[in-house]
Amino acid sequence: MRRINKLTPDQVILDYINENISEAQKILDTNSAIPNDLLRKYNYAPLKELIIREVSGKCVYCETKIMGNQFGDLDHVIPKAKFIASHDASGIFSHRNLTICCSVCNNKKSNLGTTISLLSPYTNKPEHHIYYVGSQIYYSTPEGKKLILALELDIRDDLIVNINKKLKELHNLIYQFDTERDPEVKALIKKRLLRESKKEMEYSLATFHFLKIHKLI
Ligand SMILES: [Zn+2]
Repeated sequence: MRRINKLTPDQVILDYINENISEAQKILDTNSAIPNDLLRKYNYAPLKELIIREVSGKCVYCETKIMGNQFGDLDHVIPKAKFIASHDASGIFSHRNLTICCSVCNNKKSNLGTTISLLSPYTNKPEHHIYYVGSQIYYSTPEGKKLILALELDIRDDLIVNINKKLKELHNLIYQFDTERDPEVKALIKKRLLRESKKEMEYSLATFHFLKIHKLI
């Protein structure tokens, strides 16, 4: 999980969001239930496309690329049920409360119900709360601990195998870097290594800490 900045929606998207908020708010103000067809309107293709760009095509929680064989699920950072309970329609549809995650993270998050709030990649700095040693994730704060336990980031075999595969590739590249004598080739290898730890890359937090341990960052 990395810190993410929100992109700015265009006017068409904003108008669509505001229209839904206004319609749902009127219903909540009369103490009635919002119909399901209106509730589902947060899932709006142009907004989803914007958020996919915003998250660099990765699950915001586990950093697995979601552009390949699945499109990812739109996810309410703060559960929409919390907003409904407080008669506030804004968080159901607003861009600021929506993100994208993989179906595994989404299922685990849904199973938590509405009582637990997790770290937000938009308002918190996840890098202060969690870190990696190899493919194993650890926490440095209680919020980090809650995130790891809730999404089971420390015991998901598929995830750990994928991170390991990436680190193994990096390890080979580090070996090439260490043994290369041509300074120009060495600089090119280092550039490639550093590229892998950029926020938009898959499993970038694990990569970042891996390169840090090898004193390349
Ligand atoms: Zn995920």
